[in-house]
Amino acid sequence: MSVATQSFEFRAEIQQLLNILVHSLYTDREIFLRELVSNASDALHRLQFEMLTTKDVVDPDAELAIRIKVDKDARTITVSDTGIGMNHDEMIENLGTIAHSGATAFLNALKEKGSISTDIIGQFGVGFYSVFMVADKVSVTSRSFRPGDQAYTWTSTGSNSYTIEPAEKTSRGTDIVIHVKEEADEFLSEFRLERIVKKHSNYIAFPIYVGDKVANAQTALWRRSPREVSDQEYLDFYKQLTYDPGEPFLRVHQVSDAPVQFYSLLYVPSTMDRGLFQPDYEGGPRLYARKVLIQEHAKDLLPQWMRFVEGVVDSEDLPLNISRETVQANRVMAKLKSALSSKLIGEMEALAEKDPDKYGRFWKEFGRVLKEGATTDALNRERLIGLLRFHTSRDSEGWVSLKQYVERMAEGQDEIYYLFGEDLKSIARSPHLDVFKSRGIEVLFLTDTIDSFMINAVPEFQGKKLHNGADAELELPAGKEPEPQGEALPAEDFNALVERFKKVLGERVSDVRESKVLTESPARLVSPDKGFGADMERVYRLLDKEFPAPPSRILELNPRHPLIRNLSAMGDDALVDQVAEQLFESALLLEGIHPNPADMVPRIQALMEAATRRE
Ligand code: ADP
Ligand code: MG
Repeated sequence: MSVATQSFEFRAEIQQLLNILVHSLYTDREIFLRELVSNASDALHRLQFEMLTTKDVVDPDAELAIRIKVDKDARTITVSDTGIGMNHDEMIENLGTIAHSGATAFLNALKEKGSISTDIIGQFGVGFYSVFMVADKVSVTSRSFRPGDQAYTWTSTGSNSYTIEPAEKTSRGTDIVIHVKEEADEFLSEFRLERIVKKHSNYIAFPIYVGDKVANAQTALWRRSPREVSDQEYLDFYKQLTYDPGEPFLRVHQVSDAPVQFYSLLYVPSTMDRGLFQPDYEGGPRLYARKVLIQEHAKDLLPQWMRFVEGVVDSEDLPLNISRETVQANRVMAKLKSALSSKLIGEMEALAEKDPDKYGRFWKEFGRVLKEGATTDALNRERLIGLLRFHTSRDSEGWVSLKQYVERMAEGQDEIYYLFGEDLKSIARSPHLDVFKSRGIEVLFLTDTIDSFMINAVPEFQGKKLHNGADAELELPAGKEPEPQGEALPAEDFNALVERFKKVLGERVSDVRESKVLTESPARLVSPDKGFGADMERVYRLLDKEFPAPPSRILELNPRHPLIRNLSAMGDDALVDQVAEQLFESALLLEGIHPNPADMVPRIQALMEAATRRE
């Protein structure tokens, strides 16, 4: 080691990651090349971007390219680029000391699943280290694009440390020399490497030379006419862009001249939470202005709720000197946004129309963000409402659209009814359903947290108001009242019972009264004012466990229910008070707003004891 050589330890999580990569026998080791090429391509894109604002760079005229060479005798593969390069500190930062939450996330995924395909390592932001699947030593020599910076070489054998020393490199960019392990001989072949490039890196925008030949197609797929691109090409491009092992739900290729010129190729991926693996997940397509990559994740190109959409947008109308900061305020961006989102929604509508089953699967995956869209995206709200799907009292498994709901409304019905609940099972048991069941009226079941917000943003559909079925004052279609079941308590007895309930429950209810609508259930809770329903209360509780007691509700009792009749017959038995308490708390539970259901257990046990007593 020369005097100028410095030695460093890798961070602990990188050491662990390396240990696994070095010692495991992976079948997909070839992806190491894709990761190095992808880094080289990033470095070239970043250089291009820098050169928009400064010409003062090392080798301003060097070809922007990636070169791969094999030396069979020395047993090395060299991957070089003329990209942005790294200086001393950047090497330490990027290849060793950066706090890699991605490495930790990758290790966790590995632990959870037992084994994991290294195919997705790039998603975790630690793709570089995959080179140690095939190398027993790697050296990275890099010269930054900044004229004043000295070149350095970073070297590691994949153990716990690496070294950095000054280097002689005078040209701009990075050379990565891979000393190939004995077990990885197969990669010491230009033919093999060329095939890997075609398979995994075909759409990289810069020429990739393997030996003297360019190996990649290098076409900007999105700039070709949609008629000329095959399904397979679209799929390959998608996989190279996203590492998604699944197939995308939708793909939208747009080439437009007016009102704004652009090419775009966008995809809705196979699942919603692909990005969750990535600790610093950022959504949004890549944005190119005249083929120069301006932003890796252009969040402002699409409405926020469309953050799951991936792909590429490329416009000749964006000024080249646009910076990452001014993108947001640009007029062309606003036009792009409206054209892109409108087209994407159009494709969703077409899918819903043509293939409801597939749309159902799409909805299951992305329904929540579409609801977010209906809530927050005023420009597209009308169309998004048409895309909403619900489980309902008539179809608790399928997905019902509002259009379908309205088409099969009961005679005389002129509102759309919904009920909130913790989950489908508890809504199906809700006492609020009684009245709808007995009149054959369908009810939307809402169980997502976002639903309460969405309902506020979507007051009506086709002129039909959306109305909470738990509302105290419902006006249901006339003439459809069902025959009352069983005999009602005489008014005198019922009133006595109501007074007893009031005494027991005190401040916890604002009133106790007779229900005009219950048939199967003994009791229910309704809110006296419409402002603060159980749905919002549930949301607040989710956000804040200590949420204070809500404005008290009205307890309604069913005078025909056997339980209520029995209670009345029990006179002043102390058990009546216990049952009153329990009825109230059960109602809270069914509303999904019981603060602590376990508290009910002692009382339930006491009641069971009374019920099982045999004198
Ligand atoms: P990611 O590419 O997701 O950031 P990697 O592990 O592949 O993660 O690379 C780590 C970092 O090393 C890159 O972000 C980049 O800063 C730096 N790097 C790697 N290869 C090169 C290269 N050829 N030129 C310049 N910088 C590079
Ligand atoms: Mg990378």
